[in-house]
Amino acid sequence: MKGDGIIVRVGTIIAVDIGGTHLRAALYEPNNPRPIAHERVATRTGEPGVYQRMQGVIRSIWPGNGSVQAIGVASPGPLDPHTGYILKTPNIPEWQDFPLTPNLSRDFNVPAFLDNDANLAALGEWTFGAAKGHRDVLYLSVSTGVGGGVIADNHLLQGYHGLATELGHTILDPDGPLCSCGFAGHLEAFSSGPAIARYVRERLEAGAASSLRADGKLDALSIAEAAKRGDELAIAAYRRAGEYLGIAVANFLHAFDPSIVIFGGGVSFVGPLLFDPFMASLKKRVFHPRYLEGLKIEMAALGDDAGLLGALALAQLATKA
Ligand SMILES: [Zn+2]
Repeated sequence: MKGDGIIVRVGTIIAVDIGGTHLRAALYEPNNPRPIAHERVATRTGEPGVYQRMQGVIRSIWPGNGSVQAIGVASPGPLDPHTGYILKTPNIPEWQDFPLTPNLSRDFNVPAFLDNDANLAALGEWTFGAAKGHRDVLYLSVSTGVGGGVIADNHLLQGYHGLATELGHTILDPDGPLCSCGFAGHLEAFSSGPAIARYVRERLEAGAASSLRADGKLDALSIAEAAKRGDELAIAAYRRAGEYLGIAVANFLHAFDPSIVIFGGGVSFVGPLLFDPFMASLKKRVFHPRYLEGLKIEMAALGDDAGLLGALALAQLATKA
């Protein structure tokens, strides 16, 4: 769906989501989650020209009368939302301390705003999705990694360096398994999809009985299927992931005291397999039962559009009079 020739009222916003597979852009009117136009290209993160591909997809939906108020961008971190720089990152090798929003502002002559995909998923859910109307929100994405975003007192927490809130790298056991970031015992090293698969593989190699095979396809989905067939090792792997997730969320309740916890990401859609042990662990660990009174625990509502809608929300908040 192209933007060529579309005449729109003043104040439209272009949202961009830099995914590992696709680079998407959409044109929105403020406060309306239905896009006027949207387009996507392959990101090809390892190949030169990611920024040029981004320029191309933005131009392809630029409205005919050019009345764009701002550009919002959701990107994998680490990044600095205050300066709009992507920091040194393995995600996109050619972007090392890369001035993303300064370049966009220069090239498109509109203000541009940036934050990481988990923060913007939280902001999107708060503005348009499952957390509408809540003042204090905790969002967790449990997938290949564990991402987190927090709305505190109606504001997205970004922090002094713009590094808040890396909840997946919360230390649960300093002697625990290695995280993808290189440190030990982070939440992500216990409860992400690859962490669940690694636990199963290690137990299989140690001789545990299971219908799964160490040399077979082991991922969060295949292990969930085995668990639903009654495989004890697969059930234990999710029990462990849920147990640690409960420990982490107890810490987050103590820090942020939200009225809603929202879960997104593929692993969180396995249901009771993860959430029964999660709830048992959480209830056991909050230091006062008051934290759980009226607390809502819900699944994310925005699906694949969470990044785009969060980028829209960021840009419209930043430019609102
Ligand atoms: Zn980590």
